[in-house]
Amino acid sequence: MDLKTKAHLISLGSIELPESLPPSGPVSTAGPGAGEKNIFLRSGERRVRLSVVESSPLKLAELNEGEVTIIENGVEVARGALERPLLHCPRQAYITVSEKCIYDCKFCAVPKLSGGVKSKERVVDMVGRAQDTGELEAISLTSGVESSPEDEVAKVADIVRSLRRFDLPIGVSVTPAPRSSEILREAGADEIKYNVECLDPELFGRVCPGVSLKKIKMALSDAVGHFGENRVFSNVIIGLGESDRALRDGIEELAEMGVLPIIRAVYPHPLRVGEIEMSRPSPERLIELARHVRGVLDEHGLRGDVAETGCYRCTGCDLIPHRDL
Ligand code: SF4
Repeated sequence: MDLKTKAHLISLGSIELPESLPPSGPVSTAGPGAGEKNIFLRSGERRVRLSVVESSPLKLAELNEGEVTIIENGVEVARGALERPLLHCPRQAYITVSEKCIYDCKFCAVPKLSGGVKSKERVVDMVGRAQDTGELEAISLTSGVESSPEDEVAKVADIVRSLRRFDLPIGVSVTPAPRSSEILREAGADEIKYNVECLDPELFGRVCPGVSLKKIKMALSDAVGHFGENRVFSNVIIGLGESDRALRDGIEELAEMGVLPIIRAVYPHPLRVGEIEMSRPSPERLIELARHVRGVLDEHGLRGDVAETGCYRCTGCDLIPHRDL
C-alpha cells in the first residue's frame, strides 16, 4: 500500500465485509469509529483502519493464506493481511475509562453513547488478559469526563499507578485540568494527549461548546515541560469547515511548543449527522496536510516515529510523519 492508496482509503474511511468474514473483536469504544466495528489492514510497512459499513464503496475479499484484497468498482486497490485488534487496535490495550462525557463536542459519539465507567480493577484485568495473548506492546488510556476534568485526571492517575506493574509504556488522553500533566507524569504515564480538536478559533466555539481552546494550548505547553518533546500529542480534526490558514498556523504553533499534531479526518458518526458540517477530506488534502506536518516537525527537530503509545504508534487512522511519509 503506497502513500496515495492509504490516503484514498482513509478518505473513504469505511469498508464492507463479505458474509464469510464477520468482523472479529469487540465493538470499539474509542477513536473515530467508537460504537462501531473496525478492521485493520497491514500492507507492507503501512497499516490502515476502516469502519465496517454495509454499502461502502470498498469491498473486502479473501484470498489465499490469510491474504485479503480491497476492491473498489471491481478493481483491486490494496492487498495485505488483516490484523487482529487487541483492545481497540493491534498490539495495544487502548481502553476508554469513562465512556461518557459532560461536554458535547459535535463530532464525538462518546456523549451520545453515554456508556459506563470502568473501575481500576476492570482496567487492570483487561490489560492482564491482553498481555496473556503475548501481543501486547503498549497501554493507552482515554476517557470522557464523567463529572469534572479534575476528578477524571485523579481517577485516570490512580489507574496508571496500578498499570505500572505491567512494565509497558503508558499513554493517556484526557481533558486537561490544573496540574494534570504533573499528576499524570508522577503517576507513571509516559506520553500524554490533550486534543485541540479544531484549530480554527472562529469555528471552535461551535464545535466544542463550553471548552476553551486557549486553555488546551496552555495545557499542551505545560505538558511538554513534564513529558518532554515527542511525548505530547494533540488530535486536530479536519473536515469541519475550518480555514486552511488557521489550520496551518495552528499546526505550526503546536510544533513550536514541541507537540505532535495528529491530523484526523472527521468521521461523520451516524449519531452526529446533521449537527455540524462534516465532510471527509480528499486524499490530496490529507497528503498535503501530512506533508505540512512533516515539514514543521522537521523544522523543530521533532520525530513522529518514536512514539511508544497511542495513534502515532498505531498509525491506523492517519498519515503519520516519519512513518507513512
Ligand atoms: S490511530 Fe488511534 S484512534 Fe485510530 S485505531 Fe489507532 S489508536 Fe485508535
